[in-house]
Amino acid sequence: MSNPLENLIENLSKLPGIGRRTAQRLAFFIMNMSDKDALSLAHSIINLKKKAKYCSTCFNITDQEKCNICSDPERDSSIICVVEEPSNIVLFEKTGYRGVYHVLGKTLCPVNGLDSEKIRLKELEERIKSSKVNEIIIATSPNTKGEFTAQWIIDILKKYNLKISRIAYGVPIGIDLEFADEITLLKALEGRKIINV
Ligand code: ZN
Repeated sequence: MSNPLENLIENLSKLPGIGRRTAQRLAFFIMNMSDKDALSLAHSIINLKKKAKYCSTCFNITDQEKCNICSDPERDSSIICVVEEPSNIVLFEKTGYRGVYHVLGKTLCPVNGLDSEKIRLKELEERIKSSKVNEIIIATSPNTKGEFTAQWIIDILKKYNLKISRIAYGVPIGIDLEFADEITLLKALEGRKIINV
């Protein structure tokens, strides 16, 4: 193996949004951490890879068969908020939303939109068929892919007897939901528009 510091910098720079300069800064920071903290960081990565899996219902990340949102009897499972990534759930949880979620895994690209196999839409349809669902809130990002994906979902779910809504924006057009703060998201959720009647 090459120089350990260089090796760490190289690995850190593979993370999204981390350029080489930031990777260097992080690597030096880690080098100066106490042994205990640095090991705890390393262990948390190993633990995540060993134990974390997708919830069998909503595809959130969990270490159980069902995530703690799906297994919470206080949650309203008749409202499903459809998001792109598990990380979006963390954002919506801060708004006090009490329904449940469905993680698509990714968004569709308008150019090769036929890759619809790759988003977990069949799994969402299964949930709609097998449990009492009143409303689907589509909370994909307000950018080109997110809008395209939302429209795709709306077209497919039209045949079911349920309310379909799209979160209102609120969220600046063109951005990734990841960058929206919780007040903006709460407004977007409250101001959601019903698409079908
Ligand atoms: Zn779940």
